[in-house]
Amino acid sequence: MSESEQPDFQPKENRQVPPGIKILVAEDEESNFRYIEKLLKKAGFDLFRANNGLEALEYVEIDNKIDLILMDIKMPVMNGVEATRAIKKIKPSVPIIATTAFAIPGDREVFLNAGCDDYIPKPIRAGELIDLILKYIA
Ligand SMILES: [Mg+2]
Repeated sequence: MSESEQPDFQPKENRQVPPGIKILVAEDEESNFRYIEKLLKKAGFDLFRANNGLEALEYVEIDNKIDLILMDIKMPVMNGVEATRAIKKIKPSVPIIATTAFAIPGDREVFLNAGCDDYIPKPIRAGELIDLILKYIA
């Protein structure tokens, strides 16, 4: 399944997204970002984008009101693992969910050891992502 396909997310009665939740999406690939953007905006989240890990770090340095970060791992300039380590040093409380395609066995542990709170593989399933986000912002 291509990530550029239409998101399949249909709100369920038991999924309540509170207003004003700010999600920073660190994602270098345009089509991946557009997919995630559509899905999360439809669910009612406020979206911000970083094009690489360094931008994500810089964003957190200037804006302390980010509620959660969705962190792509494979990015130029600074990858998601390095960015997570750096962000957790200055803001340990912000939940970070790592995401990547073609993860190999053991990758999950690498991401969690870097400080990621959780991991979701690509292609991202809408309902799964929303539920995971809600788990960490509740
Ligand atoms: Mg990438």
